[in-house]
This record gives sequence, C-alpha cells and structure tokens, in this order.
Amino acid sequence: MSEFKSGSLTARNIHLAFGSNKVLRGIDLHVPRGTTASVIGPSGSGKSTLLRVMNRLIEPDAGDILLDERSVLADNPDELRRRIGMVFQQFNLFPHKTVADNVALALNKLRKLPKDQARAKALEQLDMVGLKHKADARPGNLSGGQQQRVAIARALAMEPEVMFFDEATSALDPELVKGILALMTDLSKGGMTMVVVTHEMGFCRNVSDTVTFMDGGVVVETGPPDELFSAPKTERLKGFLSDVL
Ligand code: ADP
Ligand code: MG
Repeated sequence: MSEFKSGSLTARNIHLAFGSNKVLRGIDLHVPRGTTASVIGPSGSGKSTLLRVMNRLIEPDAGDILLDERSVLADNPDELRRRIGMVFQQFNLFPHKTVADNVALALNKLRKLPKDQARAKALEQLDMVGLKHKADARPGNLSGGQQQRVAIARALAMEPEVMFFDEATSALDPELVKGILALMTDLSKGGMTMVVVTHEMGFCRNVSDTVTFMDGGVVVETGPPDELFSAPKTERLKGFLSDVL
C-alpha cells in the first residue's frame, strides 16, 4: 500500500549538551516504517534539537541513530540528510529562484540529475502539491501556505525515506494551516515515515500513530495518542495539555 520508499528510524539514548546546557538527556524514539510520530512539548524542551541530531545536522555526544535498523553514525552525514527530508517553520526557499528551480536545485546538485530531468521531476512534484501552475513564479509572490507546499515538494522530490516537520504550520495564517495539515495527513496515510514536531493537537490525536511528550530534554511520556490525551500519567503532561487544549 505504501507509495513511498519509507524506512524506520530509531534514536537510541541520545545525549547532547550545548556547553553546560544539557539539552537532550537520553532520548529514545522509535518510528516504525510508514508510521507518523508526533513530538510535543513546551518551548525549549529540545524538540528541534532532537530533529537536528536525528538528521545529523548536529552530532550527538552519545547515543545512536538507526535507519532501517542500521546505525548511520559511521556514514557520511550528507548521505543521511539526503535520506531524510526536512520542512521548517520558515520555508527556507531561495527568494531569487523560481518555484521550479527551488525544487529542482537539489535534484541537479545532489542527485546529479541533468537539468531537464530535474525540472521535469520538479514539475511532477509541484503537481502533487497542486502548484504546477506556479512553477515559474518567485516564492515571494506566493502565500505562506503555497510556499510551504513548495518546501514540501522540494523535500519529497529527493525521495526521502523519512520526513521531518518542525512546526511546519506555526508561521502560517490560520486559514492556511488546514491545507498544510491536509497535505501532511495525505503523506502520512500514503505510508511516509514521519516525525512531526507540532502544536496542532488535532493532527497529533487524529493522524499520528504515536505521540511523544518531551520536557527538559527527556521523554516524559510516549504512546498512542488516545492514551496520552485521554489518560496522561504525569502531572507535567496534564499541565501541558491543559495549557494547549
Ligand atoms: P524546542 O524546539 O523544543 O523549542 P530547542 O531544541 O530549540 O527546543 O532548544 C532546546 C534548548 O537548546 C534551549 O535551551 C535552546 O536555547 C538550546 N539551543 C538550541 N540550539 C542551540 C544552539 N545552536 N546553541 C546553543 N544552545 C542551543
Ligand atoms: Mg523548536
């Protein structure tokens, strides 16, 4: 049923400090192939740092990262970054390049596709997110929601095995949030392996297979959404949910 070549992702006992600030203190996260893991928690709890460690933008001080049950820490970090697509709160598009060029760039530079093939694949990907007609526009002429679709198309064009979303809807006007969540839901249902850092409790509860609540650099609770939302075990999660729901 899976239309993506998605893989499983595991973080094992990850530790990371910035100077004396111990930001990740023994994080375990297992995301089986084709499932969606939501990560929630207060600001500063280490969620973004965890994503950056898991795609090796930052090396952990200790612990292991496995893709399809195999440790990737000995590999070239660039290789892992190619296997994991990342979508940020700020879309990080190149403002002076067209929408199509934004999507085609990495295909050409990293995947070494000839320019015409990279453009063809970019158009295909843009079509998937409903933006083929904007191929020759500049990002600045698109709405925030459209720009985020381009960022998602750009990530998917690389045929990642896992997709990370770091508060992908937080910078969007409220009326544009729904469309991006719908696209993320389609990816999830289509069998993509996803790690989603989000404040969207509806998405967490209705779409993700597991929810992980982080606070202070540790996983406080993790489990199926119904369990966490209906019967939180810790005061910390109860407090967090009463603030956000
Ligand atoms: P969250 O995404 O949950 O809001 P972050 O992972 O961004 O949390 O941050 C966790 C902690 O790590 C914070 O105390 C933050 O100040 C610190 N931090 C994040 N990135 C850096 C960095 N590059 N250098 C130093 N400290 C950082
Ligand atoms: Mg963050």
